Amino acid sequence: MLCLGVESTAHTFGIGICSGEGEILANEKSVYRPKKGWGIVPMEAGKHHEEVRDKVLEDALRKAGVRMEDVDIIAYSRGPGLPPCLYKGFEFVRDLSEKFGKPLIGVNHCVAHIEIGRLTSGFGDPVVVYVSGGNTQIISFSEGRYRVFGECMDMGIGNALDKFGRVIGLDFPQAPKIEILAKKGKWVDLPYVVKGMDLSFSGILTACINKYRSGEKLEDLCFSIQEVFFSMLTEVTERALAHLGKDEVLLTGGVAANLRLQEMLGTMCKERGARFEVVPREFAGDNGAMIAWTGILAYRSGQKKLKDVDPRWRTDEVEVSWLDG
Ligand code: AMP
Ligand code: MG
Repeated sequence: MLCLGVESTAHTFGIGICSGEGEILANEKSVYRPKKGWGIVPMEAGKHHEEVRDKVLEDALRKAGVRMEDVDIIAYSRGPGLPPCLYKGFEFVRDLSEKFGKPLIGVNHCVAHIEIGRLTSGFGDPVVVYVSGGNTQIISFSEGRYRVFGECMDMGIGNALDKFGRVIGLDFPQAPKIEILAKKGKWVDLPYVVKGMDLSFSGILTACINKYRSGEKLEDLCFSIQEVFFSMLTEVTERALAHLGKDEVLLTGGVAANLRLQEMLGTMCKERGARFEVVPREFAGDNGAMIAWTGILAYRSGQKKLKDVDPRWRTDEVEVSWLDG
């Protein structure tokens, strides 16, 4: 079985092709870049997706060495995401599905970040730390669904880091550049905001911006914002591990690329005797391969074939029937 998966929830338009055995045959993408000093403008990102989609498809098919006729099912990111971006992806797969007579299956973007990580790590039942531009969630499987045990209450961790980077004049994506600057920094005091199992980043971001404007050293702020954000995440992840009695931690999403975050979570896991895996870089940020693989799981489990988009589709609303029993 071959599944072609299309990702288009935000900045990335990606197409992956995956076999029923979990072999990734292609994972092509084109990423929208906002104008200098700007964040993502949803309508512009949608326009980008419309412009690149035929080319990305052509590249993915060539890379995999297959034709559209060889594909068995088409999967797409149904949500959550930015509406103009979701629609450009949906239009595209709907037309492909009609033209080539292939079944269409909508999958949840966050669940796809988890499933590609389970595939690459071999973990069965991990606590998942899902950290990306718009999402920050500590997730684990329980009673038929991926339950969210902790999450950000205001903004995604990647967006918070990017926004600080924007204020200090860096280009998108700013967070990896903050990681580099942080290496030369030392600690300055910032608030630490964990409420129960949930996290809040926006007040810390404001505090950081205020300190920058009053002349605090840039490298020190980059170091400190990372230390605070990642400590908060590590604290909540440790509590989730303890409460759930699980012994695997999977780090996924675009921010998973951060080595300091990997180090902190890795140390915590080691001290607790838990195994720790990070999703490989090419599958950590948004990508089509994760949609293709999740499409296979959803299709095989007989998941209802949703044919629309849902910009607010939460992780814990998805029936993960492939893990039941
Ligand atoms: P995603 O939404 O999953 O594609 O992830 C994109 C987010 O990951 C953006 O906010 C990026 O700035 C962030 N990101 C990428 N690389 C790093 C890094 N090395 N450290 C922290 N954040 C990163
Ligand atoms: Mg994502």
